[in-house]
Amino acid sequence: PQSKLPDVGTTIFTVIGQLSAEHNALNLSQGAPNFSCQPALIDAVAQAMRAGHNQYAPMSGLAALRHALAAKVEAIYGCHYDADSEVTVIASASEGIYSAISALVHPGDEVIYFEPAFDSYSPIVRLQGATPVPIGLSLEDFSIDWDEVASAINSRTRMIIINSPHNPTGAILQQQDIDRLTALTRNSDIIILSDEVYEHVVFDGHRHESMARHAELAERSVIVSSFGKTYHVTGWRVGYCLAPQALMEEIRKVHQFMVFAADTPMQVAFAEALADPQSYLGLADFYQHKRDLLVTALQGSRFELLPSYGSFFMLARFSHFSPLSDDEFVLSLIRDHQVATIPLSAFYHHNQPTGLIRLSFAKDDETLYEGARRLSGV
Ligand code: GLN
Repeated sequence: PQSKLPDVGTTIFTVIGQLSAEHNALNLSQGAPNFSCQPALIDAVAQAMRAGHNQYAPMSGLAALRHALAAKVEAIYGCHYDADSEVTVIASASEGIYSAISALVHPGDEVIYFEPAFDSYSPIVRLQGATPVPIGLSLEDFSIDWDEVASAINSRTRMIIINSPHNPTGAILQQQDIDRLTALTRNSDIIILSDEVYEHVVFDGHRHESMARHAELAERSVIVSSFGKTYHVTGWRVGYCLAPQALMEEIRKVHQFMVFAADTPMQVAFAEALADPQSYLGLADFYQHKRDLLVTALQGSRFELLPSYGSFFMLARFSHFSPLSDDEFVLSLIRDHQVATIPLSAFYHHNQPTGLIRLSFAKDDETLYEGARRLSGV
């Protein structure tokens, strides 16, 4: 068949995961915990299954979970979403991102996003017959050049995809970014797709700039978040989407035919888990400890670490001691030092070498110590 995505291969996370397993490498690559969730969460799922919650959930999600989410979002970000028409439970943030782009982007539209970027955005845009417009983040501090965004916007611009805390760099949006984004989209019909899956993983007392904190932006935003990241269960594939009713109606038209509904017993369990705000508010300290542990353990290594303000990730520079490309360097780390990381180049559409690798600190402390030991031997 003629490929719709001829230049797309298997995702980097799968490729590195396989290589890592072949070489018996320690895995600091995927942003997925290697430790378990709260046992009570598993008990709650088992309980829900035994109680008979094993058939389709409502297409938009269990009412109890949608109401718990609306209450949570209003409490922490101050934005009111109607639980029935503006909150949808999705079968992973990935599904929500796909459904939102597919529902809202038309052939011929342009979609602005920022590179390095999570690897799904651009292919999804192209599958709609639309044009991805990547804008490079500063290689110094991964900030957004809003003047460049301003000059990229034209009458075909339908959507801007933002992601804070940012995978893969750990950068976060600041108030000045919010101000520029607000001014640039005012009086336009541009939709903001805000990937906020690391919303609770923000460090050093910074606050997460959710679109739901900013009324003018919230009116044009689709927010996507993830239970997998927040509750250490990335394999459960449940997330949620928030959007004004007119946008949500369109997103649900796609969601209903892609997956119909997300897993039922997990939704029962998450509705219960949300009753304890500490279940998400404690996450920043939990991951800050892991980031700090890795930074400390890598002191004295040859890597230059870039600051991470949020997410599960931190970038490390190697270009001052190795002439290899990102891909070659990552391969050599796996083969010669048995430690797996992700080449930053994988997050660029031209796969351009950056001299940087991405480390995931969503790992138990022992793995982080051992990973740092192996990296220190480079
Ligand atoms: N979001 C995670 C990461 O960036 C995992 C993505 C995936 O495996 N599809 O590592």
